[in-house]
Order: sequence, then structure tokens, then C-alpha cells
Amino acid sequence: MSHVHPLPPTPQTAAANREALEHLPMHDVDDFADAARGLIAPLTEAVLHADGTPIFDPSWFDFIEDDTPAPDSVHPSLWRQAQLMKRGGLYEVVAGLYQVRNNDIGDLTVIEGDDGLVVIDCTTGIESGAQAMRMIREHVSDKPVAAVVYTHTHADHYGGVKGVVDPADVASGRVPIIAPGTVRSFDRFAIGENVVAGAAMARRAQYAFGSLLPYGERGFVTCGIGNALGNPTISYISPTDPITRTGERRTIAGIELEFLYAPDTEAPENMHVWIPQLGALTCAENANHALHNIQTLRGARTRDARNFARFLDETLERWGDEAAVHFGPHTWPVWGNASVTEFIGSQRDTYKFIHDQALRFANKGWTPLEAAEEIELPPALSQRWYNRGYHGTVHHDVRAVYTKELGMWDGDPVSLNPHTPVETARRYVQLVGAERLMEEGRRALEQADYRWATQVLHHVVFAEPENTEAKELAARAYEQLGYQAEGPQWRGVMLTAALELRTGVRSSGLTSASDDSINAMPVDILFDYAAVHVDGRKAADADVLIDIALTDQHDDPHDERWHFWVRRGVLNARRGPSPSPRLSLSGPKASLVAVLLDPASAGALVDAGALMLTGDPSELDAYAALLDSADPVFPIVTP
Ligand SMILES: [Zn+2]
Repeated sequence: MSHVHPLPPTPQTAAANREALEHLPMHDVDDFADAARGLIAPLTEAVLHADGTPIFDPSWFDFIEDDTPAPDSVHPSLWRQAQLMKRGGLYEVVAGLYQVRNNDIGDLTVIEGDDGLVVIDCTTGIESGAQAMRMIREHVSDKPVAAVVYTHTHADHYGGVKGVVDPADVASGRVPIIAPGTVRSFDRFAIGENVVAGAAMARRAQYAFGSLLPYGERGFVTCGIGNALGNPTISYISPTDPITRTGERRTIAGIELEFLYAPDTEAPENMHVWIPQLGALTCAENANHALHNIQTLRGARTRDARNFARFLDETLERWGDEAAVHFGPHTWPVWGNASVTEFIGSQRDTYKFIHDQALRFANKGWTPLEAAEEIELPPALSQRWYNRGYHGTVHHDVRAVYTKELGMWDGDPVSLNPHTPVETARRYVQLVGAERLMEEGRRALEQADYRWATQVLHHVVFAEPENTEAKELAARAYEQLGYQAEGPQWRGVMLTAALELRTGVRSSGLTSASDDSINAMPVDILFDYAAVHVDGRKAADADVLIDIALTDQHDDPHDERWHFWVRRGVLNARRGPSPSPRLSLSGPKASLVAVLLDPASAGALVDAGALMLTGDPSELDAYAALLDSADPVFPIVTP
């Protein structure tokens, strides 16, 4: 009974999606005009890898037509967002400010100054960044890039930088890179946040961003705030001009920029930018045509909903009276002072509502799931399209406020020390029998009680992972939940669950650890990254000590000498040489990165003259024996 292809929506799913329409402000169609406003050139070409394979092709979204009602397999609110997000190209936002939108998950903004361009955010990949700059060159200006601004520490904002500027121009000081936080802190979060837990995040991102799904009405329709998360070449150049205080100003090519430092919001380092000459403002992703994640489903540190509201209000206080346009690094701009202040104020109140109500319920003893089930935005907020859950959802953002403020335990003793999912599943199957559980799953499916169906069938799948009928039944339930989800990440998770239950674990090759990002890692974080590869059990009685000399860390002489040791199951590292070295490795950072993560590569590096070993080489063998080589393509929806 197993199906490789997705099944149609059930009549109950179709009815649920039709019913959802009744509660949506479908009469408000302004976004369609705004998303099209100022178009200079549409996207016509695919973004390609060097070998010609496509990273993103605008024709992939041709199945989403304008003015067509949502198919029964897509929530109507999500379909509308997909219709808006499939539009892309080069746009004039106001005279002198341009955006290339939707050739990537992130957008690139250019401000034309007297004798140069200021680029704000660079898209995710070198390829999309370069394509965006080609469009700017062709239609707007061929003035040189005079500065790059990263609004925050996420890869879809810095990853395309080497498609935008020549690293030599940054190194020479000709082109500053302006970014929030100290350089060290930006590096730490930009690289550390996405790499040290990167394998888990990349695998979970494949679910949340639907990157394993086919494009289509029964598959991927949009990721909500941009186009598909492809597999571009992510580059990195460290910032050179840090912004650490609100009110700091820079003048670049005659363009004045003023900054509001907004850390611990959508990203750990974040800032808003005001361009007084143009009356133009960006709150980065703290204000967007979507409710954002307080907790991303790919996994990342939990964010502070209160801070979103705090810094949005401070932005209104500072520039609200003068702002004529808001542009973001995702979705489309908002024009006109009344609309801009309503947009920012409404987003502020949405985050604050979620924060305040979650804690109100917490303080009454409600657990996270109970509060998430109960809390709804008031109509004054929910009837604004931009507050709807195209990235975060009220449901999982409420739970995230609990995580941020109260931590991992929901306070119910039963969840403090429960059995693992497999053990729990075995016990349920032993108690009632797989057949009885499947019967209940079939009954729940029949009655369109899909949430319950997944919960019941989960026990059979985890107790009997070879039970293809149970897996197919669970897939059918997840599939309908996906079709009914307004949030694209929920849709992605549910439909990917169905796909993998039917066809097994897959990989889109998505990774967060690009060569550039690993090589740009601050040295101490590099040791943090190596440390999470140490198998604590194997290393329980280890005694390894290795000295490191980095021959290319001239910028920071502090970072030239290090030593690390593994004892008691733990890798620690310190600056400076060890008191009694056993083995010293010397070479450029790239070689040391390779050896730390893959000690077997040492021989080839020595042969190539890229690494020197002095002392007892058996220390390296001992280290190699302690590393875990886990497959990053791990199962999620099966044990
Ligand atoms: Zn982003």
C-alpha cells in the first residue's frame, strides 16, 4: 500500500482549508501592488553553480499562478504568500535605493551614492549575490561597491559577500564591512551558531525548509519569507567596521547611515539602519511580512520576543515620524509614513502579545502546550497579513517564550524522566498490541483526526520500524496535516515526514559548514567544534596532548600558538604552548582545521608540505581514535 507520490487532499482537508478562508482578510490585496511596485527587471535567469547545475530557477514556481484560488492541498493563506513570494527581480524602492528580491532566500539592497554603492545584505550564495550585482550593473549603476552592511549574523545575509565584493578590497581597507557587535562577536555568532551544532541544524532545516520536497501543489510552495533554501556556495568575510552603540553614524559615498543596535532579537547580533536622506528604514528581520521564529524549527538558540518589541518601539521612537519607507532583507517594502509606523507598531505588539500572554499562562501554571493551544492573536493583529505565521507560528513561538524564560522542562513531573520514544513505543505496543493501535490510527484517519493519528501510529513505527503499513498510515496523517498548515515550515516538516516514512531517510546535501565558514571560525570556536566530535565514552580514560602553531594568524599574534588536551572525556584548549609538549603541529589554519576534524588527512598534508609534525606522532593516532564519525543524515521520523 506504500505510495511514493503524495496522495490527494481528503475531503475533510479541502473543507478545513475552505473554512480557513472565512477567517482571512482576503479583501486586503494591497500587498500584491506593493510586491510589484518599482519593478525594473524581472528574474529571467536561473542561478547556477559553476558546473551549470541550477541552485534556483524562477520557473520552478510557474505552477503558482496569480489570481488562482488555493488548491485544496494548500492552506489559502500560505498560497497567497506563495503568490507574492514567487515574484522576483530588480526593483526601485525609492529613487536611489534598489533591491534584488527572491533570486535567493534573502534579498540584496543597494543604495547609490555619489561615487559608490552601499550594499545592505548579500543573499546566501556567491552565485545569487553575483547575479544580483549583475542586474544592478546592467540597469542601475556601475559605480564601485563602497561599503557592505550585514544587518545580522545569518548566512542568508552575509553568504553572498564574495559575489558582491573582491575580498582584496576589504583586506586593503577600500571597502569596509559594517556589521553589528564587535568583530569577534559577529564572527562567533555568524560562524559558531551555524557550525558547532551545524549537522543537527542542517538535517532539521531539510524538514523545516522543505528542501527534500518536490515543487508543486502537494509539495513545496514557498518557504514564506523567500524562495527555496538551495545549496549555494556560502562565503564569509569578517566585518571590519563594528557597530556597538545605537546612534552611531557612517557616511559612505555621500550616503548617511544611522544605526540602532538591536542584539538578542532575530539574531544574536542585529541592527536596524536608518537612511535619513531617503527617509528609508530597515529593521532587518525584526519587522517582516511574516511572524518570525522565536524558536526556529531548524534549531538555534531561543530568541527573546520581548527584545523584538523593545527595539521595534525604540525604532519608532527615533525615526517613526520621518520614515517614508521600510525595506527588509526578505519580502517586499512598505511605503508611506502611516503604513510604515502601523507595520512596525503592529509587529511590535504581535511579539509583545505572544511574550506577555505566554508568561501570563505560565504564571497560572499552564504548561507550554496548553498555552500554545489557547493563545490566539486578537483580530487587530491577526487580520494584518504581515503578522501571520509564514515563518514562526503563534503556537511554536508561545512554546519558545517558555523555553527562553523557563527552560527545557514543562514543570510536569511525568515529563521529567519519561522513557525514550522507542522504549515508550515498545511498552504501548506490548500493552495494547500493534494491530489495535493501527486500527485506532485508521479510525482517526477516517475521521480526519490527523494529529491523534500521528500520535497513536508513532508508537507502532518506533516499536516496529519495519512495519510498512504503520509507516504508510502515519505518512497519510502527516500529509494531510501538511496540506492544512498555514506555516510553510510546519508544512515542510509534515510533508517531509510523510516522504521519509514512505521512502526512507534522504539528504539534499544541505550543509551549514562551508569551507569559508569553517576557515573563518575564530580559533577557540574551532576547538569547540572539534570538541563536540569527541566520543565521551571512548575518551573517558584518554590522555592526549597536542601543541599547535598556526603559521598564518598574523592579524592576531595571540592566536598563533595553542595547545589542546583530551582527558576525562573532554577536549580543552588554551592559548600558548603547553609546558611539556609531546607532539607539535605547525601549518596554516586550513591544515589545522583539516587535521582537527579529520586526523587521517595529516599524512597527505605533510606530504604536500602544508603541515609539520614534531615529536611523537602516536598522539595524533590516539586523538583520531576518540573522534565520532556520525552520519549527519540521521533518521527523524523513524527510530
Ligand atoms: Zn534572513
